[in-house]
Amino acid sequence: MDKKVFAAMNEQIMHEMYSSYFYLSMSAWADSENFSGFGNWLRMQAKEELEHAMKFYDFLLDRGEKVTLMAIEQPPVKFNSLKEVFTMVYEHEQKVTALINAIYAKALEGNDYASQTFLHWFIDEQVEEEKNSSELLAMVERAESNVGALFQLDRKLAEREED
Ligand code: MG
Repeated sequence: MDKKVFAAMNEQIMHEMYSSYFYLSMSAWADSENFSGFGNWLRMQAKEELEHAMKFYDFLLDRGEKVTLMAIEQPPVKFNSLKEVFTMVYEHEQKVTALINAIYAKALEGNDYASQTFLHWFIDEQVEEEKNSSELLAMVERAESNVGALFQLDRKLAEREED
C-alpha cells in the first residue's frame, strides 16, 4: 500500500488508543464525582475508541503491512466540571476528524483505492461523533445550573449499552 497512507494509519492506531485512554480518564473522573451515568457513557465511548484502533490495526495486517505500536501519551486526569469535560470531548472529536481527513487526502494522492473505501466508514463515524458530542455539550450547558436536570441527564446516560 501507499507508504504515506501506511505511516498515517499506523500512527492513527495510537491516536485512537489515546482517544480510548482520554475517555476512560474522563469516565474515572465522572465516577469519582458520583456522576455514574456520565461515567458509563464515557466508558462505553472508551471501548468504542479501542475498536476504532483495532479496525486500523486489522486493516494494516490484512494488507500485509507490519504494525508498529507507538507510545500513548498520558491523558488529562483532572477536570473542573462536566461542561469542561464535554467541551474537551467535542474539541477532541473535531481534531480526530481532521486526522481522518488528512489520511483520506493521502489515500487520494497515492491512488490507494482500498484505503479510500476503508476510510469511508471513519468519515461517516466522525459525523456521528461530532454530532453526539456537540449535542451532549449543549445538554450539559443547559442542565448545569439545575442539579435536577443534571441528574436526570446522568440517569439517561446510564442507559447506554455496548453496541
Ligand atoms: Mg475514534
